[in-house]
Amino acid sequence: MKFLRTLLLAAPLAGAARLDRRGKVSYDGYKIFRVAPEFADAVETELEDLSGMHLMRTAQHFDVAIPPESIESFQLLNVSSELISDDIGAEIALEGELAPYESLVQALDVAAAAVPDASWFRAYHSYNDHLTFLSDLQKSFPSNSEIFRAGTSFQGRAITGIHLWGSGGKGSKPAITFHGTVHAREWITTMVNEYIAWQLVVGYGNDTTVKAYLDSYDFYILPVVNPDGFVYTQTTNRLWRKNRQTRSGISAVGTDVNRNWPYQWSGPGSSTSPSSETYRGQSSGDAPENLGLRTHLDNVARSQGLKLYIDWHSYSQLILLPYGYSCSARAENINQQMTLARGVASAIARPYGTRFEYGPTCSTIYQTNGGSNDYAQDVSGAEFAWAFELRDTGRNGFVLPPEQIIPSGFEAWEGIKNLLNNF
Ligand SMILES: [Zn+2]
Repeated sequence: MKFLRTLLLAAPLAGAARLDRRGKVSYDGYKIFRVAPEFADAVETELEDLSGMHLMRTAQHFDVAIPPESIESFQLLNVSSELISDDIGAEIALEGELAPYESLVQALDVAAAAVPDASWFRAYHSYNDHLTFLSDLQKSFPSNSEIFRAGTSFQGRAITGIHLWGSGGKGSKPAITFHGTVHAREWITTMVNEYIAWQLVVGYGNDTTVKAYLDSYDFYILPVVNPDGFVYTQTTNRLWRKNRQTRSGISAVGTDVNRNWPYQWSGPGSSTSPSSETYRGQSSGDAPENLGLRTHLDNVARSQGLKLYIDWHSYSQLILLPYGYSCSARAENINQQMTLARGVASAIARPYGTRFEYGPTCSTIYQTNGGSNDYAQDVSGAEFAWAFELRDTGRNGFVLPPEQIIPSGFEAWEGIKNLLNNF
């Protein structure tokens, strides 16, 4: 009965997203409610009928976005909740226009071009500008870096990263691999990955500590591992999460690439429903992005060893350790990981007092199946395989104002330095 009702009500609404004058999905008048954990399951069941959106569910709360026409129905559910954003559309407007990037690198044969200016981090940018920024960063560090590709997205985009190395030469040291923006709407993660890459390049020539990092490890930094989804958040729907994969006979679009990794793939920590935000795919590892990313990760691990893997997300301010698939399974070195995470959390807090909690994924945030850090830990054999949930704790959520890009990057960099100094 419930299923039938959902079909009847949701089908017409699903195709009726309001578009603004530029053809983008309008979130004007949408409110974000933080639902108490004991009501999370009940609200999740009703969400489709309400045309609401699943934003973030943790052990402490469930944040949902409710369109204006469903606010009354939501309130009739009579669940304990707190209003945390009055109008998402207004917040998206405040996030600002994408700022154009003016590449200062004029010629391809410049021996060592200038490092891109820090002003890059004052605004959000288009996907093409991110590619240009990364390429300019590489050109400013020509003997110690290259642009690489980790496979191809569903729509045919190159999954692009920058590889940085030190005095031992390319590919000679254990690897540190960062993935950003697997969830398309988590824009701060793109910027923070680039900020860390930029700090490594800037610091190599004038900071002996930073030089030592690059002389000890090869860094593979991929700021946008879900380029199709990321482009879609910029052209059409700011709050899109998954990739843009279509499947024959299924109308819903998108796979959650971070529920698609072929390890502990099925279970309650992901969804079998293609319309769900955590849709795991038809079979394990069947997202093209996942194929490219795991092939790259495994190749690097096999040839150099994988010291550290981090999958960067937002929001909630958390440092997540293995495992996601089980709340009782423990990584062999979990005690060491917890000690390191405590140090990282205090280093992150030092500049601005931003508090990050830390702990195993399943007990700290929620159960996840087919997640990247479980795969990296147990299949790729990473020594440490973590996920970060960056700023904030919900006030702005995925739509973090551009003034917070540099502080987010700086505190994350402080955390990463602490980790590199201590493991
Ligand atoms: Zn995420």
